[in-house]
Amino acid sequence: MTTLIPAPTEPKIRVPYVIAYSGELRTDPIWFGKDRYGRRLRYMREARGDWNEYGALRARVGQRRNGQPLWRKLNTARQWRCMEKLLCQVCGQPATCEDGRIPWILTDRVVRDDDRDPGVKFTSAPPTCLACIPEARELCPQLHGSFSAYSVGGVGYHGVLADMYEPGLKWEAIPTGERNVEIPFVQSYLLRVALAHQLLVRLSNLHPLPISGPS
Ligand SMILES: [Zn+2]
Repeated sequence: MTTLIPAPTEPKIRVPYVIAYSGELRTDPIWFGKDRYGRRLRYMREARGDWNEYGALRARVGQRRNGQPLWRKLNTARQWRCMEKLLCQVCGQPATCEDGRIPWILTDRVVRDDDRDPGVKFTSAPPTCLACIPEARELCPQLHGSFSAYSVGGVGYHGVLADMYEPGLKWEAIPTGERNVEIPFVQSYLLRVALAHQLLVRLSNLHPLPISGPS
C-alpha cells in the first residue's frame, strides 16, 4: 500500500468545486442513433441525465474527484449544477446574496456581450460567492488583468458550449474538430450533432461590484 504524502513544497490551495479531475474523465461510446426525427448524436448505452430539457446531449463525467485536478478544465456536471442552482464555483455553496442578487466575476475568456441587447452578457463561468472572490482571484492566473466583478439581477439559460460531430458510414460519431462551439438552445438542429460540455447563461441587470485588494 502506498501512502500519499504531499511534497513539502506543494502549495496548500483549495481546488475549486467546479474544476475537473483526471480520474473523472469518461469516454463512453457515442454514435448517431435514431429518434423520431431521424438520426442524432447519443450515447450507445443511454442513461438518465444524458439530456437536458432543451435536448442537449450532456457529456458524462465522474464525480469522485479522484486523480489530479485539471486546472483548465471544468467538470461538466458540477459546472451545470452551479449554473442551475446558482452555486459558487469555488466552494459549491449558494452564491446568492441576501438582497437576491448574485455576485459574478467575469473575464474576457468566459464572457461575451449580447450584440442585440446592450447590458446583457453570456457566460460559461458560474457565480462566485462574496466570501470566495478574493480566493478566486488568487487561484486563477487568467483572471488577472481582465478581471471584472458584477452583482447580477437576472439569470436565464442561453445554450451550451459543445464539441461537434458528424456521422460516419455506419453512423459512428466522427469529431469534426470544432470544439467549444456556442449553441443557443433556439438552434435545436445543431444540438443534434453536438456533445455539450458547459451550460451557458444569460446575465442581465448587472451592476459593477466594487472589490478591494490587488488586481
Ligand atoms: Zn464560495
